[in-house]
Parts: sequence; C-alpha cells; structure tokens
Amino acid sequence: MPLYQYECTACGHLFETIEGLRDDPCNRCPACGAARPPRIVAPFRTVGWSSFLDGMEKRVNPGKFK
Ligand SMILES: [Zn+2]
Repeated sequence: MPLYQYECTACGHLFETIEGLRDDPCNRCPACGAARPPRIVAPFRTVGWSSFLDGMEKRVNPGKFK
C-alpha cells in the first residue's frame, strides 16, 4: 500500500500515513488532531525512500524543519 506524507495546516506537523484502495477521509494530525491535512508528497513505498524524500525536502524547503 502506498505511503503518503502530509503537512498539517494547523500546526505544521509532518507525518506519514498508509492508504488503501479507498480514499479514506478520516486522516487526522497526530500532533494537534486537526482533520484532513493536505497531502503534500506523491506515494512512496519504503522507510528508506521516506527518509530520502525527507532529506530532499529539507534541502528544498529548510524552513519546514526548524
Ligand atoms: Zn496539526
């Protein structure tokens, strides 16, 4: 199943979630509980790949990782 990365618009918390075939709308920010933060990264598949994308994100947009 694909992993998606989200950024909460309420608190800026970044997190990942796994989604199945349904586009389940019940995603919530684990930090503040805000509902349905926007999906910000295309699907990726492994923790290693996730870390790689995190590194890329840090280079592209360091302000997100204070
Ligand atoms: Zn939040």
